[in-house]
Amino acid sequence: MKLFKKILIANRGEIAVRVIRACNELGIRTVAVYSDVDRDSLHTRLADESVCIGPANSAQSYNNIPNILTSAEITDSEAIHPGYGFLSENPDFAEACQKSGIVFIGPTPENIRLGGNKAKAKQVMKRRGIPVVPGSEGPVLSEETALKIAGKTGFPVLLKASAGGGGRGIRIAKDENEFGKAFFMAQREAFACFGNGELYIEKYISEMRHVEVQIIADTKGNIIHLGERDCSIQRRHQKVVEEAPSPVATEKFRKKIGEYAIKAAKAIRYRNAGTVEFIVDHRGNIYFMEMNTRLQVEHPVTEYVSGVDIVKEQIKIAAGIPLEFRQTEIKISGHAIECRINAEDPVTFIPSPGKINFLLLPGGAGVRVDTAIYNGCVVSPHYDSLIAKLIVHGRDRDEAIARMKRALDEFIIEGIKTTIPLHKRVMKDPGFIKGDFNTGFIEKMNLSVRA
Ligand code: ADP
Repeated sequence: MKLFKKILIANRGEIAVRVIRACNELGIRTVAVYSDVDRDSLHTRLADESVCIGPANSAQSYNNIPNILTSAEITDSEAIHPGYGFLSENPDFAEACQKSGIVFIGPTPENIRLGGNKAKAKQVMKRRGIPVVPGSEGPVLSEETALKIAGKTGFPVLLKASAGGGGRGIRIAKDENEFGKAFFMAQREAFACFGNGELYIEKYISEMRHVEVQIIADTKGNIIHLGERDCSIQRRHQKVVEEAPSPVATEKFRKKIGEYAIKAAKAIRYRNAGTVEFIVDHRGNIYFMEMNTRLQVEHPVTEYVSGVDIVKEQIKIAAGIPLEFRQTEIKISGHAIECRINAEDPVTFIPSPGKINFLLLPGGAGVRVDTAIYNGCVVSPHYDSLIAKLIVHGRDRDEAIARMKRALDEFIIEGIKTTIPLHKRVMKDPGFIKGDFNTGFIEKMNLSVRA
């Protein structure tokens, strides 16, 4: 099997840069696509070629399937890497690539379709014997049925969008009185964000940790996992800090959660890189939550502790090359932490786009910065506010935290507000340092800052 000669990257920002770097190391030529406002972006400068695909509005550019496919055709690109977000979880796009004879670097359209229907995915996993959080069996069709199921499940419950992602379309109902409003709000948000108001119900787990497992699967049926990540430090159901391994993971826990992840991937004949997300309750019970059928923002922490370059693996798998290692060869070593740096106010999380007047990136041993920002660049208000990922690796968790603290101190971004001060607070927090936290951590910490 031969690798591709040229790949088009259907994305922007740090993830486009990340994929271009992997291609460069594999000796593959790259094509960047960009919207009008991204003409001077780093990904267009680093790629061998670049094509303008439309105006700032992503529906007309980064989500514009015909323009992206035409760009691939005119540049003779053999494959497309979608990154995360935009078209990465759009099964119609994966299918359109196939029809045009272009390889989609990612899972099959069927994998994406199932992963995109969270209620259905849960049902499939439950039937395979993987534990799931109690709630509705699949989607709920009306408010009355939903209320009945909620009564049986026991309050509080979460109402979640079947097509959800990025923490949107999720509402809690503490009791029957709150139910109607929560149902309406979740449905409305699901419609607005995903064009699909379908909801499902889940028991609300009050002190949960979000633990997920990275898997990679080739086209020959080989599936391995690269250990777990803990993504419990969240704000509004969105990840803020991620680490690998999870501070709560023992060897036994890792083996069990890894087996569940492989079983889940096998159940749907998964292909390429993916993530199986789980809820872990305060007793250590593990429940399947959802399957993410793409590269995750937080993949670098796994790369640090496993030594596997996940993006290169994605490309090799898409080219039909079998995995070159077995499960027993994967060794998790040291500890890695990632801080998502957003162009936002660190307490209110209100976006803060604008020009970066001065930039100093941290460096030194065990420090990785994945970003597309540079001195004098403009952070656009049109796209996601994630502007950089600061990732560190240490011999153990204590060293990783100390390294993250000093890297955050070195990191200077002037001209816009960023979440760097928030991360500094997290790294100093005694609960975080002990590894004793759950998904309510940031809310609690920020309450004390506002008080
Ligand atoms: P999304 O796809 O939008 O990220 P998820 O299903 O992954 O949605 O859930 C996002 C976050 O919402 C989780 O990481 C967790 O913080 C919270 N959450 C999800 N399900 C539950 C639950 N049953 N109980 C408590 N919190 C939950």
